Amino acid sequence: MDLQKFIRDIPDFPKEGIIFKDITPLLKDAAAFDEAINRMIDYYQNFDFDYIVGIEARGFLFGAPMAIRMGKGFIPIRKPGKLPGEILSKSYDLEYGSNEIEIHRDAIAPGDKVLIIDDLLATGGTIVAAVQLIEELGGEVAGIGFLYELSSLKGRELLAAYDVFSLMKE
Ligand code: AMP
Repeated sequence: MDLQKFIRDIPDFPKEGIIFKDITPLLKDAAAFDEAINRMIDYYQNFDFDYIVGIEARGFLFGAPMAIRMGKGFIPIRKPGKLPGEILSKSYDLEYGSNEIEIHRDAIAPGDKVLIIDDLLATGGTIVAAVQLIEELGGEVAGIGFLYELSSLKGRELLAAYDVFSLMKE
């Protein structure tokens, strides 16, 4: 199945000059969504890890189904002000603006191995912040996975120390 055809380009969203990769056609197609999750799981079949960390909000859409199917727990990294417990937070630059993400301090114990899942790798700012949150809590990043990678933005270069997988690339 050609999953690429379920990713729609929306020009000038959320601001001029950005070509937004819209994953909603893939989510809407039961077979395509299932295929995408299965292919991501296939890649991680022989990885040793304890949890999947998903990044709000679109990282949840891929990370949570992967966690269920792989028999692992799911840990959310969220936007500011959403997590009720004691948090650790990190600010970072985005392809279109800046942002902050947070994790519960007790979500990860020293030595826990995690896979980080998000929908798309652009500049890498979000993922670098997520890696820092996890490592500050003593966690180990076993792998970083995306549905889609915008290679021209070179986010991967910031992640040279990690195993980075993307299902689709351009
Ligand atoms: P970055 O931190 O630059 O790697 O940006 C990654 C995050 O921003 C991902 O969670 C994406 O959901 C979102 N994002 C950035 N650029 C785009 C784009 N062109 N199309 C869709 N989502 C994007």
